[in-house]
Amino acid sequence: MASARTAGVVVIGSGAFGASTAYHLARRGADVALIDQHALGSQTSPRAAGLTSKADNMPVMARLRDEACEALARFEEVMGRSVGFHRSGSLKAAYTEAGEARLHQGLDTAKWLGIEAELISPVHAEKLAPHFKPGAARAIGYVPSDGWLDPAKVAAGFIARAAELGVRMLPFTPARELLRDGGRVQGVATPAGEIRAPVVVDAAGAWAARVAAGAGIAIPLVPVRHQLFVTEPIAGVEPLQPIVRLLEASVYVRYEQGGLLFGGYEDRPRVIDAAALPPGFDIAQLELDMGVLRALVDEVAEHFPVLATARVALHRGGAPTMTPDGRPILGRVPGLEGLYVASGCCVGGLSLSPAAGRALADLIVDGKSDPDLAPLSVERFRGRFEDAGALEAACVGQYARRYTR
Ligand SMILES: Cc1cc2nc3c(=O)[nH]c(=O)nc-3n(C[C@H](O)[C@H](O)[C@H](O)COP(=O)(O)OP(=O)(O)OC[C@H]3O[C@@H](n4cnc5c(N)ncnc54)[C@H](O)[C@@H]3O)c2cc1C
Repeated sequence: MASARTAGVVVIGSGAFGASTAYHLARRGADVALIDQHALGSQTSPRAAGLTSKADNMPVMARLRDEACEALARFEEVMGRSVGFHRSGSLKAAYTEAGEARLHQGLDTAKWLGIEAELISPVHAEKLAPHFKPGAARAIGYVPSDGWLDPAKVAAGFIARAAELGVRMLPFTPARELLRDGGRVQGVATPAGEIRAPVVVDAAGAWAARVAAGAGIAIPLVPVRHQLFVTEPIAGVEPLQPIVRLLEASVYVRYEQGGLLFGGYEDRPRVIDAAALPPGFDIAQLELDMGVLRALVDEVAEHFPVLATARVALHRGGAPTMTPDGRPILGRVPGLEGLYVASGCCVGGLSLSPAAGRALADLIVDGKSDPDLAPLSVERFRGRFEDAGALEAACVGQYARRYTR
């Protein structure tokens, strides 16, 4: 039978964004219910590559990414369970003048924020990651403090700790509707009854815009399919060899299970219409296409010759959300007091989640956060991208060859 419940905050979605926000809210003493339409932490988050990247051209993002990466490195110490963080460092190689300029900009912002970042020679890069043949790279950036982790452990780690702190976990509980009274959110309606709450966080991943749209709120983001594969073990590949990213091709490679993990950003990704997904759709049902990854491997064959013969052991994908400017949407939602959003991950949300959740929880509890999340507020899109076609074109434009954006 349906029952009415109450909470201080309802967080919709237990992926990396929602789970981190719920944990950080609980740490701040909030009474939190974390609801998910599926099993907890089971959708796009565990399917990620698990890379971190501190070098970002936007200072607020570089600060959040630095904080988040260090939080992942200390996860076990603070949270009592490991996310398998490996401080491998990361390399990014550029092959064009524009790419070189972009790479310099990211490194300069990192250095300005006190993050160790340097240019290294192709010979040095190949010594660090022998499976990478830099060829005619114009510039190679190296961030020694970056790393990679086990993606399946991030949301799960936040969920486990949040439960210990008293967060009520409600898996298989879809938010059917945001409850509102005039300009204020009042909670969520679920098939098991209403949960009344003065604050609701929409962290519904690929469904985030759909959840908000039910209350007449536009969150301009578009879910796209993103995929990776992992090879069978390859001799000489080691866990602490740096992540390698090629800027123009927009592919990434890192160690995984004795082999290499490869993923990348094609020009024309498959856009997912969340409104057209059948009720109960699970990301595990997303149709994958190895052809997309094979085409990217062919493009970069000279830089990763070992991939030409390596056998694929695992292929997975998920539905991260893109925004028109390639930045996440974090913060208050104007037009419905008490509603907050944490989405628009732009394929970087897993590694951002510790800081995103911390800052959002501070904003909810204190009314402000450090850094100020205003540049990431949905408000920046006010009156723009109301046309679905224009929104999709802008979001796909941000995804395509992501590292050049
Ligand atoms: C192949 C791949 C590689 C990636 N690599 C990286 C990487 O290296 N580094 C990185 O940082 N990021 C990476 N990402 C992106 C990363 O996975 C996402 O940024 C992150 O998982 C986003 O988390 P989320 O919480 O927004 O979404 P999700 O994990 O999808 O969580 C959203 C949750 O909301 C729930 N939900 C939806 N609607 C409702 C509703 N109505 N009611 C209740 N619950 C609802 C869903 O069931 C889901 O559990 C990668 C993604 C993919 C697919």
